[in-house]
Amino acid sequence: MIEIKADLHTHTVHSGHAYSTLDEIAREASKKGLELIAITDHGPAMPDGPHEYYFGNLCILPEELYGVKILKGVEANILKGGKLDLSSEYLNKLDFVAAGIHDKTGHNLKDKVEYTEAVIKAVERGYIDMLSHPVNSNFPLDLGEIVEACKNNEVILEINASSYNPAKNFSRADRMATVKLINLARKNNVPLAFNSDAHFCKQVGNISYLKGIFRETYLQPEDVINTSADKVISYIYNRTVNQISMPSFNDSNQVLIKA
Ligand SMILES: [Zn+2]
Ligand SMILES: [Zn+2]
Repeated sequence: MIEIKADLHTHTVHSGHAYSTLDEIAREASKKGLELIAITDHGPAMPDGPHEYYFGNLCILPEELYGVKILKGVEANILKGGKLDLSSEYLNKLDFVAAGIHDKTGHNLKDKVEYTEAVIKAVERGYIDMLSHPVNSNFPLDLGEIVEACKNNEVILEINASSYNPAKNFSRADRMATVKLINLARKNNVPLAFNSDAHFCKQVGNISYLKGIFRETYLQPEDVINTSADKVISYIYNRTVNQISMPSFNDSNQVLIKA
C-alpha cells in the first residue's frame, strides 16, 4: 500500500453535508503525518454549498496549521457546456481547483457523450488542477478522451477513496473503470492523486478502501503525485496552462498559529 502525504480532497462544515472544521481536519492530518491538505468545499451550485464569498475570503486563513500546509481550494461543479460554478474572479484567488460533475447542481447533462464533452470543455478552460472522481458510475465518461484532455492541460486525475466507502448508502465506484483509468494515466504520463474526499476529520488521509486497486494495478510510488507535498506543489505551480501565484507557506499567519 502506497502512503500518501498530501490529501488533495477534503470538505469542511462549509459543505453542509460534511461534519468537521478546518481546524479539526488539520489537527487530524498532523496526527497522521500528512504534509499537506487541500480544503475543497463544494461550489455554490451544490444545494448546501457555501456562497461564493466564502471562497473569496479563504485568503485570510493561514498557509500552515499544526505543521500541515493548507491549500485553499474548491471542488467546483462542472455544469453544462463545461462551465464551472465559480467565476474566474474567485477561481484566480484559490491555490487549488478541483472540479467534477455532481448531482443536484442544476445541470441537465444526460449521457456519457454530454458528460464527457462538458468535462473536456471545463478542463480546457485552464482553471482546473485536478479532476475529482472522474470514475463515477452516475456520470460515466469516455476515459480515453478525458486522459488525453488532462494530459494536454496538465490536470491531475483523482482516484477517489470515498467512492469505495462501504458505509455509503450509494456507490459511485466502478472497479473496472478505475483500473482502466489508472493504466491509461500511467501510459500517458498523467499524474494520479489518491485522495480521501473526507467529509469528516477522521477520514483525512484514509485511502484504505483502495487497497485492492493498488494490488490489482501494481502501483508504484512514482505513479502517484500526492506521496509528497513538494511533488504536488511543484506540479500545480509549474502548470503552464493557468499561472497562479505560489503561496509562501511562511507568512505572518503561521506565527499566530504556533503561539
Ligand atoms: Zn465530488
Ligand atoms: Zn468531494
